[in-house]
Amino acid sequence: MIMPLIPYGNYVQWSLTGQAPAGSYRFQLERSGGPAGPWELVADQVDVWSWYDRFGDSDDNVAPNALSLVREFYYRLLVRAPDGTSTSVISEVNPTLAPKQRQLLRKLLHDEYVVLRKASGVPVAVVKRRQWGTRCPLCFDQATQENVRPDCTNCWGTGLVGGYWTPVLTYARRAPLQSSAQIAPEQRVEIATTRIVMLNLPHVERDDMIVFLSDNRRFWVDQQSETSLRTVPVHQTVFASELPHSHIFYRVPVDPRSQPPML
Ligand SMILES: [Zn+2]
Repeated sequence: MIMPLIPYGNYVQWSLTGQAPAGSYRFQLERSGGPAGPWELVADQVDVWSWYDRFGDSDDNVAPNALSLVREFYYRLLVRAPDGTSTSVISEVNPTLAPKQRQLLRKLLHDEYVVLRKASGVPVAVVKRRQWGTRCPLCFDQATQENVRPDCTNCWGTGLVGGYWTPVLTYARRAPLQSSAQIAPEQRVEIATTRIVMLNLPHVERDDMIVFLSDNRRFWVDQQSETSLRTVPVHQTVFASELPHSHIFYRVPVDPRSQPPML
């Protein structure tokens, strides 16, 4: 589990390790003030990879420095796999941070998000590649255990139905594009790369896609690293390559009118 703080709550993100049996997964997420409970159910969902556990109904309800947000948080995640087995894991949110640092971090995150939203950033959709799910019946080859059609619009070449999770919206800053030549076996291809700065949630990984909603330019994530502000982790820097407009990923549905949430 990866759990960056957010100004008014916690963001909980997880991935499955090892060989994930094909099918649907059920996730129950619970929150507590200590590792021994009592546990309060936060979410009970099928096939999700993150949860935005935001307290209060509006910005006016809870301030980022409110006592309820400075205390310790533990989350327990119960995973039920399609083969009937279940696993549970307990993690503490930012265990290395003292209450004062936690308070500072929430404030920094809030301020950074406002800067990205109002000044330096533009809306983006983070489109994460599925790590588990139902095998694509159209192109998954049982014999070789590989997907054989990279142009499949049912799984976008991932071998898993849907291919990508529902986009998560946020704001990001994109550096000017740089052109770099890559030597492919057959020919020399010009690839435009860039550096994207955004808050460290959701945590982006290699092979995810970032879509800039205003101009629909789509980038493929090559590398990600966390960056700190006053020694606390706030941003992630993403190195990404622009996908050519003819690429099949331009057909992955992303609604250009959607708006990122207020954090
Ligand atoms: Zn497919």
